[in-house]
Amino acid sequence: MKEVYRIYEERTKKSAVLYKEARNYTPLGVHSYVRLYKPYPLYVDRAEGTRIIDVDGNEYIDFSMNYGAQLIGHTHPQLVAAIKKQVERGTLYTMPHNLSNELAKEIIKRFPIDQVRFTNSGLEATMHALRLARGYTSRDKIIKIGGAYHGLHDYVVTKDDPERTTGEATPGCKGIPVGTLQNTLMGVFNDLASIESLFNQYKGQIAGIIIEPVMMNRGIILPEDNFLKEVKEICQKEGALLIFDEVKTGAKVTWGGASEYYDIKPDIICLAKSIGGGLPLGAFGARKEIMSAIEPGGVSHAGTYNANPLCVAAGLVTLRDILTKESYKEIFRLNKKLIEGCEEIIAKYKLPLHTVSIGACGTIQFCKEPLRNHKDHAKFVDVEMGERFWIGMLNNGMIPCPYPPPREQWTISVQHTDEDINKYLEGFEKIAPTLLEKS
Ligand code: PMP
Repeated sequence: MKEVYRIYEERTKKSAVLYKEARNYTPLGVHSYVRLYKPYPLYVDRAEGTRIIDVDGNEYIDFSMNYGAQLIGHTHPQLVAAIKKQVERGTLYTMPHNLSNELAKEIIKRFPIDQVRFTNSGLEATMHALRLARGYTSRDKIIKIGGAYHGLHDYVVTKDDPERTTGEATPGCKGIPVGTLQNTLMGVFNDLASIESLFNQYKGQIAGIIIEPVMMNRGIILPEDNFLKEVKEICQKEGALLIFDEVKTGAKVTWGGASEYYDIKPDIICLAKSIGGGLPLGAFGARKEIMSAIEPGGVSHAGTYNANPLCVAAGLVTLRDILTKESYKEIFRLNKKLIEGCEEIIAKYKLPLHTVSIGACGTIQFCKEPLRNHKDHAKFVDVEMGERFWIGMLNNGMIPCPYPPPREQWTISVQHTDEDINKYLEGFEKIAPTLLEKS
């Protein structure tokens, strides 16, 4: 391990200086904790197409694509033109404008909802979706899946102890009142019984279940067989709402997100990341009857930057003009090529790894065993090997996925090419023999 860090430090001297300075002004030197890794993070100078260039002039092929927010790649010419046009017409109105009608129509076309409200992030989308579910059902409790990430607001930051998987949640970080989490109940992905037992224990008290239809914060864990359909059936039976957190899956697993992919109509959908083309845009939506709970004296939803014309213009060009149904064919072809190439390397070097993919996304899971939920992830995944993979790939000019690799997945954008995929595979093959070396 020492050698890879030495190479990294040799290549990234200016990043080291800037990071040292940042620690004076900012806790841990970063503005989001996942940006921190050993020995220090890269400082970006600029991004172009599928490339990131750091302050030392190193070029990286980017497969993180901003944690999946950049399905259209960086600096897409149509996005740049739309933003430039909007900047000259004003970036914030805090009054209604037609662009938001146009974007609402695009979103309603793609996802099975009648109405939408815009937010500025995924966190806000899930936070308001939970309030809506509670307001609509007049119930307080929600079910959350262990190991799922829905942003860092209090109701969903849970301690995901793999040993204690059901019942009331406990806070996942300091600063969250224990009482707040008493209304969050923990279920287990791909384990219907864990969810049924909560509905039995808290009869008539559960407003809804919030679920990532594909767990994309534990690498990629796919739902088994009829799991999602059965969760929907329980919700219907118990008068609770099914909330799909499609912040990562929406517009990425296919044109219409996981709802289209699995042919399931949830009651509420949360969106963000890829719908904004890299600008801060989120949304939550539902059928009209549920959204009608947002009214004076009912559920509140407001915000200075909501539906600001800059982000809405970016979202509109992204969904309407760039991410057309046609555009997904090439993304899926390239993703398949990358997955197959990784599988070949894993077999050739007898690495104890496997791959999982869906739509535009794929991941190397750092274990041999297939994973069904966060308990398996905690038990089987070799986090240290993920670190070796990360730093090794950076040294070979690749941002292989977002950080940290064992929890994330790559995104193939509309701008990736066969050459980009070949380079990834070359890099992976180069570091493959080093992955088994212990530090
Ligand atoms: N939900 C999911 C499934 C996510 O992956 C994330 C972010 N990774 C969020 C919500 C929160 O989104 P944001 O970072 O935009 O607040």
